[in-house]
Amino acid sequence: MYLKRLEVRGFKSFASATRFDLEPGVTAIVGPNGSGKSNVVDALTWVMGEQGARALRGGKMEDVIFAGTSSRPALGRAQVSLTIDNSDEVLPIEYTEVTISRTLFRSGASEYAINGTACRLLDIQELLSDTGMGRQMHVIVGQGQLDRILQATPEDRRSFIEEAAGVLKFRRRKEKTERK
Ligand code: ATP
Ligand code: MG
Repeated sequence: MYLKRLEVRGFKSFASATRFDLEPGVTAIVGPNGSGKSNVVDALTWVMGEQGARALRGGKMEDVIFAGTSSRPALGRAQVSLTIDNSDEVLPIEYTEVTISRTLFRSGASEYAINGTACRLLDIQELLSDTGMGRQMHVIVGQGQLDRILQATPEDRRSFIEEAAGVLKFRRRKEKTERK
């Protein structure tokens, strides 16, 4: 399983439909300051179901919709689609390619789809659960965080890795039980 394609339209600085074809392995996005690199990561987080505007570096969810520039009017909707290669059948669905989509209208209405069929956010969350993706599963190391990790004490660094590996919640549970 790997992320195969990300398509954004009307999302943050991406007014026109923009498509990123990804290969297995490491992908690097380079570009000048303010060119939209972090917005690509925001689009990924968003399509996987992020509900917090702050996690998307905005004040309210509507801020993900293209707000317009001096030469281009604002748009009425943001849309992001993520295509996942599922030829190894990690996702519990009988398609070798799975596209999840999310659309937000200025009215506040939201739409979600799996392979073009409308669904609930819950369906996307369930599809992604047990894959290492989706809510609370993947780890995104934000800008500036890298310095913090490099300069952290060994204990803090360990707890960050534990968080990423998903064992921190078990440690917390263990400590809570031991205190009783
Ligand atoms: P840096 O190298 O400084 O981290 P970056 O490439 O990560 O830059 P982003 O933070 O992804 O840049 O993009 C910032 C740009 O996106 C800003 O110019 C901002 O105005 C624009 N932007 C963010 N939200 C919207 C929106 N809703 N509508 C239009 N433009 C937006
Ligand atoms: Mg950035």
